[in-house]
Amino acid sequence: MADNPKPTEVQKDIVVSLDYTLKVDGELIDSSEETGPIQFIQGNGEIIPGLEIKIEGMKMDETRDLRIAPGDAYGDLDPEAVIDVPLSDLPQDMPIEPGTEIEVRDEDGNSMDARILAVKSELVTLDFNHPLAGKELDFHVKVVGLRNSTEEERLHGHVHGDDNHHSHE
Ligand code: ZN
Repeated sequence: MADNPKPTEVQKDIVVSLDYTLKVDGELIDSSEETGPIQFIQGNGEIIPGLEIKIEGMKMDETRDLRIAPGDAYGDLDPEAVIDVPLSDLPQDMPIEPGTEIEVRDEDGNSMDARILAVKSELVTLDFNHPLAGKELDFHVKVVGLRNSTEEERLHGHVHGDDNHHSHE
């Protein structure tokens, strides 16, 4: 198979390197400044849906400011994901106070992350929503790399970096 020409814009199956900052309500939440750009295969569902749609067609070195609605990001707040549990059900070896992140197990032994919202005498209110659920996300993004994905990458559904040796089941 002949090599495809070097891609010039963000399109399906292109490996994109993206620098970004993420703000919510004007507050900096996350940035690629220290970790380096994120790399993903466009159209593969590796990043949040709203972001993937809005970067489609971006050129190398192009920057954009993008606002993503909750429904296209981490979802709307689910009131049913906020539940009260007896204080005695929680681990005793940690501070039980609002804002604390805890890991709890359901009946099947699956672990889930929750945040303590409130503590009322013997009842603790836990919030299982993603911390960014219900939030509008303000991204500033810059395309810093574009290349064709390999057949193997498309098969695996993820990017293989130069130094990224991994084993597969
Ligand atoms: Zn792989």
